[in-house]
Amino acid sequence: MINVDSTLCPQIIKKLNYSIEATKYCKSTWTGADECEARDIDGGQWVVVMAKKTISCRRWELTCIPCSHGCQALFTMNQKLEEKNHSYYSKAIYMKTYVNILKPIKGSLYWPHTGFPDILPPKARRMPGRPKRHRRREGNKSTCMTSKEACEERHKQAAEAKKKHKQKQPRHKLQKKKEEGIK
Ligand SMILES: [Zn+2]
Repeated sequence: MINVDSTLCPQIIKKLNYSIEATKYCKSTWTGADECEARDIDGGQWVVVMAKKTISCRRWELTCIPCSHGCQALFTMNQKLEEKNHSYYSKAIYMKTYVNILKPIKGSLYWPHTGFPDILPPKARRMPGRPKRHRRREGNKSTCMTSKEACEERHKQAAEAKKKHKQKQPRHKLQKKKEEGIK
């Protein structure tokens, strides 16, 4: 930002350039005093009041950056575009905002010790109300299991595991006996 030459911030200049580019789609007529009438190609018609910095399309009021209608009116009234933006968008204000804000901090090793015990996360406790049901997704189908179904499935899995374990055990013992018999 220090290297920026203009008085406005680069993003605001970008937005202004966009508005200037869009002025080719509208025309404006000076109606006396500090008022202008801006007309779009598609038939839209807007009132620009220079002293109040307002346009009936309300973009200037909302953003404080003149829209295409505002830019066109400013060109018609031969006024400077950069002066009509809010001072908040200026480089000087930006620099003032961020001066000495991001200060470096030492690591936690160098932080002072208070002598009090460390703060720990709270203990997990059962929340009021019914606990959530187990949900399983298979492909695109989403199936919902009740606690009873889930319990039955777990029992089935446990029984199968037990069966497998039992089947393995006797073979092992038989093999051992066979080996002993050979010896
Ligand atoms: Zn506008």
